[in-house]
Amino acid sequence: MKCALVTGGSRGIGKAICLKLASLDYYVLVNYRSNIEEAEKTLALIKENGGNGELMPFDVADREQIKQLGDWIATNEDKYIEVLINNAGIRDDSLMAWMAEDQWDNVLKTNLDSFFYVTRLVLNGMLTRKYGRIINIVSLSGLKGLAGQTNYSAAKAGVIGATKALAQEIARQGITVNALAPGFIKTDMTEGLDEKELKMMIPARRFGLPEEVASAAAFFSSAEAGYITGQVLSINGGLYS
Ligand code: NAP
Repeated sequence: MKCALVTGGSRGIGKAICLKLASLDYYVLVNYRSNIEEAEKTLALIKENGGNGELMPFDVADREQIKQLGDWIATNEDKYIEVLINNAGIRDDSLMAWMAEDQWDNVLKTNLDSFFYVTRLVLNGMLTRKYGRIINIVSLSGLKGLAGQTNYSAAKAGVIGATKALAQEIARQGITVNALAPGFIKTDMTEGLDEKELKMMIPARRFGLPEEVASAAAFFSSAEAGYITGQVLSINGGLYS
């Protein structure tokens, strides 16, 4: 059975990607950290729409917890993770002069270290089958840098570098590695922002929708996108990046 693992799949962009991939016949592994209510809602929606999947809670910032994914892979030999979406992420903004060590560490662990610890567990199966699709959700912040986000910008820029490097390592094995860089997307993460003011600097004059990121994720996940690797696609309504 072909599976797609979506980290942070319970809410926001991850949720939209889960629903999209389920509609494309993937058995979806919905990862989340703590909000079981939202995760259950997402899985229920997948099933209502005729798809299937299961919940897979673990904290992507905790390398011990990530080992549960390795256990799942070892005990589910009939299931194969063909698509990995590294989506789980947090921001914790502060000017660098005031940034606490915890703010730096948590944002780096959740957004960057998770890429390494999760991806390497999934990679073996992809290498064996000589096929796979890895999509990393990065950010405009990782491309151009944003004041107040040295931690987040560094983490996302790190994932962009890793995307390009890993893409070259495994292209011959039929595995592609690409990144999506959203601008402002309507989710819980952007909830407190002043949309009215910020949208004036976006050429499209609006925030994007999670579904608009999900459709790009579906394209990169497809067999047809097999000659595209190591790329970063901006989804930002025309914001300069
Ligand atoms: P969101 O609405 O805040 O949802 C975050 C999701 O990630 C939730 O499912 C959450 O699970 C999960 N999560 C957070 N920390 C986790 C952890 N340590 N372990 C496992 N799961 C964790 O965020 P979003 O806006 O959809 O963002 C998704 C991705 O897009 C992130 O990587 C973000 O940096 C990136 N992005 C977003 C925007 C934007 O404008 N929204 C722009 C650029 C990039 P729980 O429900 O259990 O907390």
